[in-house]
Amino acid sequence: MKSHEKTGGKTGKERDDHYFIREALKEARKAASRDEVPVGAVITHNGAVIARAHNRREEAADPTSHAELTAIRKAAKRLNSWRLTGTTLFVTLEPCLMCMGAILQARIPRIVFATFDPKAGACGSLYDLSCDRRLNHRVHVTSGVAEGEAKELLKGFFKRLRTGKKNLKGPTSALLTPDE
Ligand SMILES: [Zn+2]
Repeated sequence: MKSHEKTGGKTGKERDDHYFIREALKEARKAASRDEVPVGAVITHNGAVIARAHNRREEAADPTSHAELTAIRKAAKRLNSWRLTGTTLFVTLEPCLMCMGAILQARIPRIVFATFDPKAGACGSLYDLSCDRRLNHRVHVTSGVAEGEAKELLKGFFKRLRTGKKNLKGPTSALLTPDE
């Protein structure tokens, strides 16, 4: 059974989802301002943000410095536990294989993301690790929250990149490339 759901109503949970995705978008804008592919994430626990992070792959020269992974590390430190039970991860772009792996390892019960990544997404696009019966953990997924804003941010970033105003070091991987 698919665990995905699409937003559309106006429940309190959905208002909260929009609020926290906007917090993740703030992180994504920080990344863009530092010439990083704009992806941001926040993790909440009991309705409060306990970790925020943005993509720092260029600055850290680290292929694992994705927003989600950094946020997971910070949240685990904050809760003093590798097991992030009772948390929700909000991220502006569909997680990749690596990040979905970490989400499963951390036993995060729910994720909310803004826009799909058709070239690298592991939560419905290329793969769907959120509800693979062979794995011992399921993740409840909500997608499409503030999708337009997240898409525009990514499109604008790659447009500037193409016009030569920005110059990422090293090859841009299949991951986090514009959907065109
Ligand atoms: Zn990732």
